[in-house]
Amino acid sequence: MSEKRSVVLVTGGSGLVGKAIKSVVEQQSAEYGDHSFVFLSSKDANLVDFNETKRVFEKYSPSAVIHLAAMVGGLFRNLDNNLAFFRTNMQINDNVLRMCHELNVRKCVSCLSTCIFPDKTTYPIDETMVHLGPPHDSNFGYSYAKRMIDVLNKAYTNQYKGKSDELTPVFTSVIPTNVYGPHDNFNLHDSHVIPGLMHKAYLSAKEAKEKSKNLKCKQVFFKMNFISDLESAQLTVYGTGKPRRQFIYSIDLARLILWVLFNYNEVDPIILSVDEKDEISIAEASKLIANSFSRRFNVKFEIVEDTKMADGQFKKTASNKKLRTYLPDFKFTPIDEGVDSTIEWFCANYDTCRK
Ligand code: NDP
Repeated sequence: MSEKRSVVLVTGGSGLVGKAIKSVVEQQSAEYGDHSFVFLSSKDANLVDFNETKRVFEKYSPSAVIHLAAMVGGLFRNLDNNLAFFRTNMQINDNVLRMCHELNVRKCVSCLSTCIFPDKTTYPIDETMVHLGPPHDSNFGYSYAKRMIDVLNKAYTNQYKGKSDELTPVFTSVIPTNVYGPHDNFNLHDSHVIPGLMHKAYLSAKEAKEKSKNLKCKQVFFKMNFISDLESAQLTVYGTGKPRRQFIYSIDLARLILWVLFNYNEVDPIILSVDEKDEISIAEASKLIANSFSRRFNVKFEIVEDTKMADGQFKKTASNKKLRTYLPDFKFTPIDEGVDSTIEWFCANYDTCRK
């Protein structure tokens, strides 16, 4: 009789990071085939509600959990909704970790974020600094709720330590920097910076192409001379474009989260980030996006900064030294390649993607 495969339950399995984990697990079935991965969305259970959380955990009886589900959003959605971000994420996290404990889940990896670190700090930020001062005002609700995951991980471990390390379940967390990739939320108003810029660039490139087509029709009709082949599109960046970020491609993050699930046994969090030298400004990210659309649509882009809009945190440079100690040779996808494949996915899935 074949042995029952252990279940890995992924909360938030329908989101950007969850879909990336699904794709890595499917591609590397030889490595992960001994486990049965279940990817949950809010349709399976609203994790804000304890009874729904309990029902879905009891249904699958997981031996490990990757906990990604969260109320997530960009700067502008956070600014207006700190209370909802705090309460929703506190409830989800408390319910999920409580069920992990009640069902004796052996390993739970939850997701924090680099934007939860203290606003006034020294750089680079590392894992020891999560609680060393208030977070940036723009997203304090999200940040404090996320920090409490680390508190819960420590409290469960202290309270229920087994007689040996092997008997003690590991509840830990990862701290990714800004993630981008296929299946992101490309909404123009409440997305993160990269998908938001991609959507704006797409619409502008389309419009430029449409204008060019109409102009060419007129030129043919009135037998006019052709003026220009390369139409102009515009990409408006909110703020000065100066803030700097370490962007991580979702597929790289997925591979790292799976490594954490099977190999990292500290309760303390671990930062999952590209190297410090790979940090780029929002203006540089915009250029990469504009260039990719230029090639794809044969339009030229003008990038405009809307300095009336808020910039958010200027930088949050994170050190990946701890990760590099464990995985010195891990190769991250270069950002131009990651941006290009995300744009390819976005264009191919425009009608159905989240936007
Ligand atoms: P997404 O917004 O893409 O996905 C969120 C996921 O959470 C979806 O699967 C969603 O389900 C689920 N979810 C939301 N609310 C509930 C709820 N009440 N009950 C059950 N499920 C719910 O998020 P990401 O994939 O981008 O983020 C994953 C994790 O990584 C989050 O914890 C986030 O805080 C963290 N993170 C993300 C970063 C980023 O740049 N994106 C950066 C750093 C950390 P449904 O699809 O049904 O709505």
